[in-house]
Parts: sequence; C-alpha cells; structure tokens
Amino acid sequence: MRTAKPQARAQVAKLAKLAKLAKSPKSKKSARSASKPVRAAKVKQYVYFFANGKADGNRNMKDVLGGKGAGLAEMTNAGLPVPPGFTISTAVCNIYYEQHARIPAAIDREIDEHLKRLETAAGAKLGSTENPLLVSVRSGAKFSMPGMMDTILNLGLNDVAVEGLKQRTRNGRFAFDSYRRFIQMFGNVVLEVPKDAFEHEFDAVKRATGAKLDTDLDEAALRDIVERFKRIVLQRGGRDFPQDPSEQLKMARNAVFRSWMNPRAKEYRRIYDIPDHIGTAVNVQMMVFGNTGERSGTGVGFTRNPATGRKEFFGEFLINAQGEDVVAGIRTPQPIRELESVMPNAYKQLRDITTRLEKHYKDVQDFEFTIQDERLFMLQTRSGKRTGYAAVFIATDFVTEKLVTPKEAILLVDPESLNQLLAPGFDPDEWKRIPTATRGLPASPGAASGQVVFTADHAVEWTRQGKQVVLVRRETVPDDIHGMFVAQGILTATGGMTSHAAVVGRQMGKPSIVGAGGLQIDEAGRQFRIDGQTVKEGDYVSFDGLTGEVKLAQVASKPSEILQVVNGTLDASQSEIYRRFETLLSWADRYRRLGVYANADLPDQAELAYRFGAGGIGLCRTEHMFFGEGRIPIMQRMILADTEADRRTALNELLPLQRDDFSGVFKGMHGQPVTIRTIDPPLHEFLPKREDLMVDIARMEALGKSGSELDEKKRLLARVEQLHEFNPMLGHRGVRLGITYPEITEMQTRAIIEAACRLNKEGVKVVPEIMIPLVGTVKELRDQKTIVDRVAAETMKAEGVRVKYLVGTMIEVPRGSLVADQIAQEAEFFSFGTNDLTQLTFGFSRDDIGKFLKIYQDKKILEKDPFASIDVEGVGDLVRIGVERGRKGRPDLKIGICGEHGGDAASVHFFHSVGLDYVSASPYRVPVARLAAAQAALAVKVGD
Ligand code: PEP
Ligand code: MG
Repeated sequence: MRTAKPQARAQVAKLAKLAKLAKSPKSKKSARSASKPVRAAKVKQYVYFFANGKADGNRNMKDVLGGKGAGLAEMTNAGLPVPPGFTISTAVCNIYYEQHARIPAAIDREIDEHLKRLETAAGAKLGSTENPLLVSVRSGAKFSMPGMMDTILNLGLNDVAVEGLKQRTRNGRFAFDSYRRFIQMFGNVVLEVPKDAFEHEFDAVKRATGAKLDTDLDEAALRDIVERFKRIVLQRGGRDFPQDPSEQLKMARNAVFRSWMNPRAKEYRRIYDIPDHIGTAVNVQMMVFGNTGERSGTGVGFTRNPATGRKEFFGEFLINAQGEDVVAGIRTPQPIRELESVMPNAYKQLRDITTRLEKHYKDVQDFEFTIQDERLFMLQTRSGKRTGYAAVFIATDFVTEKLVTPKEAILLVDPESLNQLLAPGFDPDEWKRIPTATRGLPASPGAASGQVVFTADHAVEWTRQGKQVVLVRRETVPDDIHGMFVAQGILTATGGMTSHAAVVGRQMGKPSIVGAGGLQIDEAGRQFRIDGQTVKEGDYVSFDGLTGEVKLAQVASKPSEILQVVNGTLDASQSEIYRRFETLLSWADRYRRLGVYANADLPDQAELAYRFGAGGIGLCRTEHMFFGEGRIPIMQRMILADTEADRRTALNELLPLQRDDFSGVFKGMHGQPVTIRTIDPPLHEFLPKREDLMVDIARMEALGKSGSELDEKKRLLARVEQLHEFNPMLGHRGVRLGITYPEITEMQTRAIIEAACRLNKEGVKVVPEIMIPLVGTVKELRDQKTIVDRVAAETMKAEGVRVKYLVGTMIEVPRGSLVADQIAQEAEFFSFGTNDLTQLTFGFSRDDIGKFLKIYQDKKILEKDPFASIDVEGVGDLVRIGVERGRKGRPDLKIGICGEHGGDAASVHFFHSVGLDYVSASPYRVPVARLAAAQAALAVKVGD
C-alpha cells in the first residue's frame, strides 16, 4: 500500500554531524570536502605528545586526536595524573588505507622520535633489561565506539624485558602475568590466533597446578604458560612471537588501524551513523599497573548514574586487575563506593578529580582509572553515554545546580533519545501478579518482553519472521551488535553495570539487565535453568530494565508515563520525568526559530499532537478519513460510478463525514493552523486487489453461484483492471485526480469551509490551509485554485459567514522546485513533500527501496536511508532552490516540510539552515523535532 512509510529507524544524531549539516546553505562544497579523507600533504603534524602537565593537543581536537586522545591531552594540561604518551592522529589511519596498509617512512620517524621523548618522560626504556618501558596501544575515534576496535596492553615485553620488570618490581608473578597477557592479546589481535587456543592452554596449566582462580597461579606456572603461548603463536600465527619492541609497536599500531574496518566496527558505525572516513587515532601510553597486588586495582565509572540520571558516584573496580578485566565482564567487579574503605586516599582523589572534570566539561564524565600501589592514574575521560531518561534528568539537574544555563542544557540531550521516554512499560498490576524469577543489575531502563534467543544471529532471524525476542547471553561481545539492535531487550548472566551489554544497551536505549547470576545458561543446549526450572529457546521472558526484575512470562506493556500524562490518564504532578521533559522542551521552545507542526489525519491524533506541543498541523491526509468505518463502500461507489451525476451522489454522502472529521481536527488544534491536503493516492488503493477478486470470482463460479453478488464482483474487477497502472506512483494521483474529477476537489473544499464556517459561528477560530498535492506546473495549481476559490465563496455565502483560508501546494516533484517562482504566483504557501521528492529525485521507489538499500549501504553507495534522513546534496538542493525561487515569486510565502524527514533530527538542522518556517512530523516525533530545532538554532549561533 502506497501510504505505508519506510520505517524510520531510530538513529542517534551526532551533534557534530548536525553542525556539519547546519552549515549547509553554502554547503555543496563543504559537504563534499567533508566526505574526503584528510590528505597527507595538508597536515604536517601526525603525532601529538602529552606528558608532565603539558600536551600538544586539547579537548577541541577530537577530529585529529579522537575522543580518547583529546581527553588525555586535556587532562594532562589540567595537571591531572595521566601517564605520559602520544597520540597518532586519525589522518594516519586514512593514509594507512590510502597507501594499501603501509605507513610512510616520514611518519614512522615521527613516531620513533616521540617514542624517545616518551622514554625520557617515563624514565624507562622499551625492551630494557633493568627498567623496561611498557606501553598500551589503544584505538580512539572521534565518537566513542565501546569495545568495537582493538587494544593491546603491556607492549614492550619480551624474553629479557620480562626479567627486567621482575627485578624492578621485585614481583615475578606480576611480570610473567603481564607477559602472558601481552602474548595472548598480541597473538589474538595482531596475529589473529583464536582466543580459545590460548584459553585452552591456560586452563590446562590451571588444572595441572590445581589453581582455582587465575590469581592462584604462581611465577613458575606463569612462566610455563608464557612458553606454551609462544608455541601457539608460532603454530597458529605462522611466525615467532616478535621480540623487538619497535616491531611490536608497528604491528600493534597497524592492527588497531585494521580494526577500524572490522565487521563489528562497521556495523556499529552503520547503526550510529558514524562516517567511515573519519578514521581512528592510536594512543600509545606508558602502562601503569592495576595488577601488581592488593594495593592496586583498576576501574571505570560515571560522575552520575547513566541509567537513571541520579546524582550518585557510579562505577566499578577490581583489585589486582587490568582494565580489560572490568569491561570484559569476566570477573564481577565491586561497586566503586567500596573503594572508599579499601583505599580511602585514592578514592577521595578520584572523586575530587572527576567532580572537577564534570564541571570543566559541563557534562557527565565516563572515566577510567588505574591505581598502582595506591597511586591514582587517570586513563580516560569522556562525555558519558546515557539513556534518554538519564539525559533529561541530568540536563535539568545541571541547570538547578547552576552547572549550565538552560541554553547549554538543551545541547546535552540527543533529540533522538527522547523517543526512549515514550516507550511503553509494563502494566504495574499485571507485573506485580507474576513472581520474580531472578534479579540482575538494572543496566538500561524500559520494559522488554519476548521469546528467548541465545545468539545474535537467531535474534535477527526470528525478528525477520515477525517475532519479538529477548537476547539472553552469558555475556555479550561486540560481535553481538546486530542481535542486540533488533532484540526487545538484552539479558546477561555475568558482567557489571559497565560491561559491554550494559554500555551498549544503554546507548541503544534498549532495556537491559546484566549480571543476573541466577541464570545458568547453556548456550549450546539453547536453554537456561533458573531455580530448578528450564527455559528453552522460544519460551517467553520479560524484564524491567529499571528495577532489574526478571519474570518467566509474556507480559503486556502499557504506555510510558509521559504518554499517560499527555493522554490525560495521569496527572503531571505524579510524574517527575514528565515535568522534567516538559521543562527541557520549554527551554527548547525559547531558542528555536522553526515552527514544529504535526502530521495528523484524525481528531484524536490532532489532540495528541497539540499536547506534545505541535504548533499546527502541517499535513492532514484526507484520504485516510475514507478508510474509516463504513466509508470504503461509499468511496468505492464513487470510484465505480459511470457518470458524473452518480459520482456526485456518492461524494455527497462523504461530505458530512469529512466535514465532521475536519471539525474535530480543527478543534483538536485549538486555533492553530491546519493544513488539509486534497485527495492524493491513486484510486485503485480504495478497491480490492485484482488477484483477490479473481480468486473470489473463480471460487463462486466453481461453487455454481450466480446472481447480484457475483455480478458486483465482476463489475469491480472490470473497474480495477481499468484503473490498473504500470507505475501508479507516477500515474493518476495527486493534483491529476482533482483535475480529472473536479467534483472531488469541490466536495473536499465544501467540507473544509463548512466546518470552518460553523466553528467560526461557535466562536472557535480556524484558519484552514488547503493544500494541493503533486503540483509540477503552475497551471495545475491554477486549475484547482479556481475551483477552491469558487466553492469557498459559494459555501461562505450559503453559511452566511466569512472565514480566512489559504490555498497552497506541496512541492514534491522536482519540476515544482525548479519553477517555484511561477508556482508561488498562485500558492500562498509551500510544503515540501520530501517523501515523494526523494522518490522522484533519486528515482527510487519508496516502497521498493528495501530490496536494495542494505546492499547500497554495505557498498557505501549510500551512507544512510534517504527516506529517513534528507539527502542534503541532491534532494536538499532542490529544497533550497524551491525556497529561493518560491520566495522570489512571493516574498512572504510560508514554507514548511511534511515528509517523514520532519521528525529526523539531522534533517531538521538542514531545514533550519535553508530558512523554512516549520517542519511537520508525526505526533510522537514532535518532541524530537522541538529539541532538534532548538539545537539547530543554537548551533548556527555558535561563535556569535
Ligand atoms: C510526501 O510525499 O513527502 C508527503 C508528505 O506526501 P505522502 O507521503 O502522502 O505522499
Ligand atoms: Mg507525497
């Protein structure tokens, strides 16, 4: 069916990308050059140093240094305890790919020089037998991509340096544990030896020595493991483990660059709309050790709770461990508050530093730290990913705490994330009735209910079959991203609040529970046991990501609190989140220039849109009213009529029904503008399908039936065949219908004006805007406008009252934009129909693009779905031309857009930049558009 819209996937709008779009009025050039990789000749410095309170870079250099590199530079400059190091810029990643996986010698030399500087700053030397320097090699793109790329720790160790490390630390166990970790990581990441090959040997030694925990292994056992690991590298990696630290570094650096293009990183970028060309930086940093013993540890945290937004120090740590142990979810870490009793000084220092960082960045910080022998080191700080719920909480709290102004608070919330706040929850009564099977950590709020699947691939497969699934895993890994994306929720048995499942679940706004220890998962057997019960793949499970409760049942959900307030079933005073949501949006309204209207076809939709803050209706698709109860037969009679007189009889029956609907829509909008479009779809959409009719007729004939019912079916079939078109979207639709059947336009105009006149008499103000679709020449519009004006005059005379109304058009065929100056002579307003405009500009059928879109995206022919987010270069240019030429023809022309793009944050930025008056979106996306419009207005003003 033509009116079905391609589902706009919820996308996370990236501020920087939005800023790029916001610049686009003169942007053909800038948009194109932004999509090219940075070239070697233009950038002189490729390596940026940071040590001892001074860094070459700063927080504003994320494009060059990546988020991690920029954060390390900024923290160094602020005098925080950051281990020294250097960042190899994102430009080098692009050079690596341009030069077919090679790095030019000049850049290698620059890296070597910085390595020497690092040795001096650290007072240690790579590969030294007395005082070896160990470094970490980490990825870090401009936008954080948790766990998607590779990291190598403990680089620099070899057969002699490990003895040096033992001597320096007087800790042989630690030295050999670090060395085995390095060989394992290097072997896996750089030489692509499967992880389980190492794990197998590791477990063998554990068994042989009777060790229960990893930490039970002594130096001798670890020496044995190192030898075994080196043999595995030789057998499975095809070469000896490299002993030369500078060779190790080059190989590790290149592996990190390679990981930029691994399938999971690519999938992640596709989901989050991160361009491929920005590349990753590589951070090389002196290692500090959280695994030297009981006075050391490592952890991650947030300055506020990233799930709920509450002001609480939030995070986890592990004693005697290295960073990857925390995020990998292998050992269950301790809550960060417990650090206070274990190491009070380090804890106090960490709190002070992170509070300072939050104030400095004016945003919640997500940080990583290591404590080596009670000395604290900061390894990372970045703006913390949070749920939509938390984002609204934090932004409003920050204003109350005077950390930011309302204007700054608006920029702290991703407009797309507001959608999470409208997602349904469980009916509390039903939820209470079902016993709780187990509990886990509430990693990401929201209600999830569905059939259990144990693999990401099954999640995708089952979802394709129309099932709703919950992905249940012992722990998730970055390769699960596709399954996590489609699942209703993610439930894991291990891991903490910062494990992969928790971080990614929150970021996706996907309900998630982690560390539900009560689940004994048998992934191979596709079942889990819980309290003596067995749950098989396909059974139902439900959970509440806010409380952490898991139940073994299918549970119906109910509308979100915000929706309940908007629908009037909950008082605003009872919902804290509603009040904060409304406060934030009222700040947004202060700064936005764009109007935000809604697409609504029926009275209840209009009322909902109004309550969500819509300032008008930008599109009422009148044909949707014909699908109402009992109306299709009248519509069909109209279509089947052989004569104009019969057609008019049917239309006269439709008239009062349409008039009542219009009246309801006008009332629902409380005096705000209402744009009503005359009929648009091809008429066959109102008739049964040809194939269905043929089957019915054949069946009736086979059963020997005859009479009026059969005759009626045959007549219908004949008309359906008559109306058949090869390309209905390019056929008899839109304005063409009004031109060939003027009586339809007449009836619709009469219904609109009668409703307006009658409400006017009741004292309700109404200004209808009558919109003619699919206009490509001014003569088409003139034809219809003449009818509208004549019928409006007759109706007002008959009703004995005058109302103001406007006549305008949709600009949705490319020719309409090109001759907009002529069309504006007749049109009092334009509304860009970017659905059809995209279809007709690309020549992509909006109903068939699904067949090839994914391949286009995989092959990078299209970065995103042009029906979801406006194609700035092509379709956007037609919008720009239409605006310029339209306003030339009529300077006070009112211009809006009512395609699906009106509710897409990135597109809203574009529409702001080309000077539209309003965007019109579906009622549920009105909040997103309000916030995005404010961000667009503020982004443009940056630098004022
Ligand atoms: C459009 O084409 O953008 C539009 C809003 O009209 P429809 O989707 O009804 O074709
Ligand atoms: Mg259209």
